[in-house]
Amino acid sequence: MSSLYERHRAVAPDWLALYYRDPIELTHGEGRYVWDADGNRYLDFFGGILTTMTAHALPEVTKAVAEQAGRLIHSSTLYLNRPMVELAERIAALSGVPDARVFFTTSGTEANDTALLLATAYRGSNQILAMRNSYHGRSFSTVGITGNRAWSPTGLSPLQTLYVHGGVRTRGPYAQYTDERFVDACVADLEDLLGHTRDVAALIAEPIQGVGGFTSPPDGLYAAFRRVLERHGILWISDEVQTGWGRTGDHFWGWQAHGQAGPPDMLTFAKGIGNGMAIGGVVARAEIMNCLDANSISTFGGSPITIAAGLANLTHLQDNDLQGNARRVGALLMERLRSAVMGVEFVREVRGRGLMIGLELVRPGTDQPDPDVASAVLEAARERGLLLGKGGGHHTTALRIAPPLSLTAAEAEEGARILEEALRSVQNEGA
Ligand code: PMP
Repeated sequence: MSSLYERHRAVAPDWLALYYRDPIELTHGEGRYVWDADGNRYLDFFGGILTTMTAHALPEVTKAVAEQAGRLIHSSTLYLNRPMVELAERIAALSGVPDARVFFTTSGTEANDTALLLATAYRGSNQILAMRNSYHGRSFSTVGITGNRAWSPTGLSPLQTLYVHGGVRTRGPYAQYTDERFVDACVADLEDLLGHTRDVAALIAEPIQGVGGFTSPPDGLYAAFRRVLERHGILWISDEVQTGWGRTGDHFWGWQAHGQAGPPDMLTFAKGIGNGMAIGGVVARAEIMNCLDANSISTFGGSPITIAAGLANLTHLQDNDLQGNARRVGALLMERLRSAVMGVEFVREVRGRGLMIGLELVRPGTDQPDPDVASAVLEAARERGLLLGKGGGHHTTALRIAPPLSLTAAEAEEGARILEEALRSVQNEGA
């Protein structure tokens, strides 16, 4: 156990969970790899979610940030800011939200918090619909719309939240339903809730649940929900913190996979665009964005440094068609992983889109969660030089794969081979 781990208690509360029995101290990164303090190299299959959207130490981002730091760091929303306007215009044009306006924040949590502020003010209601098993952040308001109880440390909330079925049906009453029957049941559930509830402000949903384990609702669910929401004048907020910027391969935003559901009234984004810098934001229809009567709601959102990183990163993403790369390499990786898990009896499902792939781990022969096996695979992969993520509801039973979007085919193959070895070693040891 490193002495830094002991000292870590000085900066974090006891409940803060670190990955790995012997937590890793990362010292540097390059491309899709990171190194620890002992000089070990790891292929990073999780950094894409933890912020590194394109690549570690991307030279264009490093240069843009250094140049901006040498010119001006002053973070004030009291003056005009040319790069901020430029990035806002580009995101508005990409967003698909009609008559879009962008407001920058410092995190995804704050972006969702702002979206909630806008929705509640616009609709004059503090009632919010959220999905079961959802994750939307860690502030007081976003904890209150986070259905995933493992990440929701208090039941007290400034909002009245109603949780809707539809996020996940890995197990539980809907597990055996066909897609069609599941959609019908979830819509009936939503109608039922709304039957006794007046003036709900918004539904917030992740197009693919991220922390929840990379589970997608079936095609047609959000489109069916949207028809109901529109009848009641309820806004739809798409939380794109994990699904945005082309990660899902076929689409630039997660909401686009849900066809007639979109475009949303608001979408929120975060860390990925800054490639590690503290940035987030909300895109909203002008009418909604302008409903507040306030001077400003952030000083740091859109600071010159984070904006410089965002502009350089977005340019790199588009010039190198990293969405296309996510589609192509994601398809290879998915195929390779599906063959890698054959015969591994505790893997129940390999799912996802593009470079957002989840593996559901269970007790062999059942659909019951087995958190120990997920931790064992994580450790075994780390020993072999691969970093993965965990997730999946109260019981952490899914492995999450979200590498930087520049992952090459050779790296996908390397990661799949290591993961296969890790899975088989855990199976043989009977963890
Ligand atoms: N929404 C989703 C879907 C997320 O996955 C996260 C972070 N993992 C957040 C919001 C919160 O973002 P942040 O950590 O930047 O506050």
